[in-house]
Amino acid sequence: MKKQAMDTNSTIYKIRHSLAHVMAQAVQSFYPDVKLGIGPPIQTGFYYDFVFSEPIAHEDLKKIEKKMKHIIKQNQKFGVFELPGDEAIKYLEERGEEYKVEMCKEFIDEGETITFWENGPFVDMCEGPHVEKTKDIPLGAFSLDTIAGAYWRGSEDNIMMTRIYGLAFETKEELETYKKRRKLAQERDHRKLGKELKYFTIADEVGKGLPLWLPNGMAIRESLEQLAKDTEFKYGYKRVATPHLTQSALYHTSGHLPYYAESMYPPMILDENEEYYLKPMNCPHHHIIAKQLIQSYRDLPLRLAEYGQVYRFERSGELAGLLRVRGMSMNDAHIYCDESHLREELIAVMELHKYYYDLFGLSNYWVRLSVHDNDSGKFVSNAGEWDKTVGYLREILTDIGLPFEEEAGEAAFYGPKIDFQVSNVLGREETASTNQLDFTSGQRFGLEYADSEGNPQIPYIIHRAPLGTHERFISFLIEHYGGAFPTWLAPIQALVIPVAQNFYEYAEKVRTELFGNMIRAEVDLSTDSLNKKIRRGTVQKIPNILIVGEKEQTDGGVTLRRYGIKEQQSMSMEEFITWITEEISERRNSHPTNPLD
Ligand SMILES: [Zn+2]
Ligand SMILES: [Zn+2]
Repeated sequence: MKKQAMDTNSTIYKIRHSLAHVMAQAVQSFYPDVKLGIGPPIQTGFYYDFVFSEPIAHEDLKKIEKKMKHIIKQNQKFGVFELPGDEAIKYLEERGEEYKVEMCKEFIDEGETITFWENGPFVDMCEGPHVEKTKDIPLGAFSLDTIAGAYWRGSEDNIMMTRIYGLAFETKEELETYKKRRKLAQERDHRKLGKELKYFTIADEVGKGLPLWLPNGMAIRESLEQLAKDTEFKYGYKRVATPHLTQSALYHTSGHLPYYAESMYPPMILDENEEYYLKPMNCPHHHIIAKQLIQSYRDLPLRLAEYGQVYRFERSGELAGLLRVRGMSMNDAHIYCDESHLREELIAVMELHKYYYDLFGLSNYWVRLSVHDNDSGKFVSNAGEWDKTVGYLREILTDIGLPFEEEAGEAAFYGPKIDFQVSNVLGREETASTNQLDFTSGQRFGLEYADSEGNPQIPYIIHRAPLGTHERFISFLIEHYGGAFPTWLAPIQALVIPVAQNFYEYAEKVRTELFGNMIRAEVDLSTDSLNKKIRRGTVQKIPNILIVGEKEQTDGGVTLRRYGIKEQQSMSMEEFITWITEEISERRNSHPTNPLD
């Protein structure tokens, strides 16, 4: 499941690298005055950057691809030769490759030897490796994909080149599978669905990375938040609330200032003694509350929870829909405990994750244990505590049978952490939630309590956020369900459709009854045809459509069409309400069956 680094000696790496050369050769055959940038292999294929004397279009890719196949069939051999620095520059200058000359000079300055790879009439300055001969490239397993603009060496000060992307795999099947998955991912993209299904919007007038939640999206947020509140209540958490603004002194105590300053919005300065920040995290506030509540070991463990609104100044180039934002609401909580509770509390937090992931049917996840390193200087120095806390986490993950990978240097500065990584339909991997075991902040915030012998002690703090932020988690859920949310999460849980105008009144009566049972319902009172109304409800992926006409009005019932099921089912209002109320309160994951089956 984990994304793998590219192995430069693998067959696929050589195929992709060689295809970049074959593509450049094909391009040169059509456009002899083209200049070359760079042409590396990438995770899904390869690309090459070109400077054309006149723009090319997507349609031109067809002839280039055809030419590439022709070149491959010629079975050109790949050969390598080396040139001394000055000769290499002269060689490239003679060919008019000014961008290659620029790179070549840098390689010489760095003391590297300059190698050239040759296949047929094409020669490129390159380190390799490649396939032995072009017939080693599987003919049906690549295709040219897209054209994009790319600045030379990634800098806006440089010329904009034309980048041609190609997809390449070892087999035709892999190529087809990749294309299918990508299409699915594009259809399910949360930005696309977020707009079509009216979940959220990001308005220039409000600001980049500051989403506005529409009623449909807010319904999802509130259902998720209620899940967190119900579950945390059962696990013995207590809820708190904290302000969005805070004096800078608090962040000096926590250690976020000055080190975290670049991720915070600039301060609001009232006078030289009063400087306020928008809060980038809830932890310090919870610690101040904990200080009021912890005096004795009997007060532990203390679990403080809040859906806390935080603001982080992500660079604008990194903002992406709901996945990376500047304002976010976090499923945050802090557990204060002594060492004797540590194991139990950590296991409960891991259980909580498993419960949520099972509930949503998210099975594509893995766990990363992030630990410190000894030489980066990024971490508080306390070898004993690092060993002890890392040891606890390792032991617990092993005991509960959660497979994990360890990564050095990725811990928080105050302790090790466990990250839950999820991957989407395309294999793109993101951190869904982070849990930290903090042995530092208790000291910093002066959280002292008396143990059973009356001696002063400092508590451990577990930071946990299984549902991450609303923004990020809902972006995962939108893509996971493709917008077809199970009833308990669906913005509109039931849509009532009267078959004709005569039944508008009965339809409204049905909705009123559903409202009375706390069911998010709507009525379609438009004059469109019945089929059109049903189609509209289906496009909106509403889980339950209730059709009402003569028979339903006489019987005091409804006819239910479940999303994804062909057969309709007639039932009394009472039967429907009993069933849907259970479906919602048990938070059943979507499954295509009728209630009375
Ligand atoms: Zn190469
Ligand atoms: Zn925290």
